[in-house]
This record gives sequence, C-alpha cells and structure tokens, in this order.
Amino acid sequence: MRRVYLDNNATSPLLPEVFGAMRPYFAERFGNASSIHHHGQETRAAVENARESVAGLLGCRASEIVFTSGGTESDNLAVAGLVAPGDHVITSSIEHHAVLHACKHLEETGCEVTYLPVGGCGLVDPGDLRRALRPNTRLISIMMANNETGVLQPVEEIGRIAAEAGVLFHTDAVQAAGKVPIDVARIGCHALSISGHKMHAPQGVGALYVKKGTRIQPLFHGGRHERSRRAGTENVPGIVALGKAAQLAKEALDRGDDKKMIALRDRLERGILAQVDEAGVNGDGAPRVPSTTNLYFDHIDGEAIVIALDLKGLAVSTGAACSSGAVEPSHVLLAMGLRPDRARASVRFSLGRQTTADDIDFALALVPETIARLRELSPVYRRAALSH
Ligand code: PLP
Repeated sequence: MRRVYLDNNATSPLLPEVFGAMRPYFAERFGNASSIHHHGQETRAAVENARESVAGLLGCRASEIVFTSGGTESDNLAVAGLVAPGDHVITSSIEHHAVLHACKHLEETGCEVTYLPVGGCGLVDPGDLRRALRPNTRLISIMMANNETGVLQPVEEIGRIAAEAGVLFHTDAVQAAGKVPIDVARIGCHALSISGHKMHAPQGVGALYVKKGTRIQPLFHGGRHERSRRAGTENVPGIVALGKAAQLAKEALDRGDDKKMIALRDRLERGILAQVDEAGVNGDGAPRVPSTTNLYFDHIDGEAIVIALDLKGLAVSTGAACSSGAVEPSHVLLAMGLRPDRARASVRFSLGRQTTADDIDFALALVPETIARLRELSPVYRRAALSH
C-alpha cells in the first residue's frame, strides 16, 4: 500500500545525507569528544563543526550553542536556568507542554507565572505582554511557531518589548527552525530552542542558543561539557546529524525551497476546502510556517478522521503527538476560542522536505471523500443537515 506521511511536525524522517553524515560516528569514529587522543580529537572536531553549522542557521556564534537531548530539554534549561525563586515569568497559553509544564513546576518553586491569552488566529497581543510586565519580571518565554497551527508569533516585537523592559526573552523555535529564516540578533532573544527530529535529524538531539553573557543555571551537574552549561558526554552521532540538518536547512532556505513548500501546503489547503463544506483553517489570517495547516471539519471527530485516513495510507494527526491518546481537546485550539467540538474536529497536516506534489495529490484524492463518508455515518452531522 502506498503510504504518504503528512505528520512532519510530530517527527520528520532523516534525510539520507544526514544519515550518511552521522553513520561513521556509530562505528569507526567512536571516540569520547573529551579524550585528548586521536579518537577524541576526531569526534571533538565533528562536534565543533556541527556547532558552527547550527550557529550558521541561527545567525549566532558557535560558542553560544549548547547541545541538548532535544526540544524538551532545551525548553526546560531555558525556563529553569534563567530564573530564581521570587521571579515573575510571562509565557503564553499555547506553548508546548515542554514550556507550559516547566512553568507549572516553577510556580511550585516560588516563581509567579502569567499565561497570556491569544486571539482567534492564535496570536499573542503585544499590548497584553506590556501590561503583564512587573518590576520582578525576569523572563518572557513565547514560542516562535506553534506546533499545532504553525502560527508565527511576532517575536521581533516581543524582543523589543523585552529589551525595553530589561527582561530576558526565550523563544521555543522547535517548529520554526529550518522552515523560516532565524536571526537571533533580529529577534533580540537571549535563548532559543531547537530540536533535531523536527528538521530531519534524529530524535534525541537538540540545541539551545544562549546569548553571550547570559548566565544560565545548568539542569545537570557533572563534567564541564558544553562550557559547564550541560554536563554529560556528547551524543556525537546526533550532534553531527543536527549540524548536517542545519546546514542543509540553511541551503534550502537560501535557495527559496520554503516558497515551494508554501505552494504545496496552500494547494492542499485550498483543494480540501474547495471540496468540503463546514470546514476551515485554524489560525487563518495569521502568518504561519510553510509546513503546517490545521483544518476543522465540523460534526466529525478528528481521531476518526486520522484513523480513517491511516487505513488508506495517509498519516496526519490531531494536534500535538505528545498529547495523542488524550481525550482532552487541544489546549492550543481552546485557547484560540474554538468550541470544544470544533477543536475535537480538527486535524493537522504537516509537510516535510521529502513531501512531493504527488503526495499532495494523494491527500487531495483521499481527504474530501473520507470526510464525506464519515459525515454520512455521523448522527451529529445528519441532525445538523436536517435542521438546515
Ligand atoms: N516545542 C515544540 C514547539 C514542539 O513541537 C516539540 C515537540 O513536539 C517540543 C518543544 C519538544 O521537542 P522534543 O520532542 O525534541 O523534546
């Protein structure tokens, strides 16, 4: 059976070049990057080379990159490492749980946290941010791109507000890295998280940009790895892969491949909406990353759509993979003001660098017919149709 994967925001496949780059570091190049002999020098050089590539993608110095085990660790390091008990933190209600739950934990350790609301298209209002500032505000943590809707926050404006207020600014750019250009100086952030597996490197590796001069408390205590910001022997194959993926992503952005992805995404979105009524885009009207479209199909359950499409070979998802299996509707869509039934009727389609025009045709041939069939079976839809 043909299978098409449109769930790249959950995880993205390794690009063959990335696998090729990391492969020797599983076998013949096995050294500990802290060893002073030949084997260590070889892996140290590879780690530092990868650091340069990641820095190239983000527009920073290599020394400002801290390698981590992924987006969750990067977010936790930023949130926990930049504040102390008694500090006030401002975040948004649509963050990934890696930030939201880290902030909940801060509240248990004597910090105060404000969770900003978002408007109907999923955007934080900079006015709300200004009004939330307090004399003891130490950190603003607001994501660059949302994992469920792809909506891009006005991070440069947030960076200016943070600078005027003398407050630190962290942004979770896990779903933005490699999809839109990132320049940490333009954003004006002090910390920025990325994750390998959202940009065609493997799961279990990520990085945190920490601006030079920003003091950060480590999460782990041990050796002096990563300039004492993250103890633990480096995951050399993962880091090499992240470096290669960052280099390839930068080259793709420089070539304008993101425009091609926008064209594919828009064709998918418009093609579905032209054939399906009582459906729409969550986050419509806001700037979005090229990869993502989140659609609601009233009167049917998103989980049922995901299962029906999977049986036909199309992989999509209902919001964050980390919360799949949970019955609760997405906190992101609810925060945007969607009724719970519409939030439950929403499905995310997310493209990757491997997605082709043929894949989009496959989805276009499948989705409208599947929605029509599920609605025929849905008593809610039939009642609504009768009352029209
Ligand atoms: N932040 C965002 C926006 C994400 O989408 C994810 C993963 O879904 C994470 C953080 C966590 O990243 P990781 O899976 O590498 O821990």
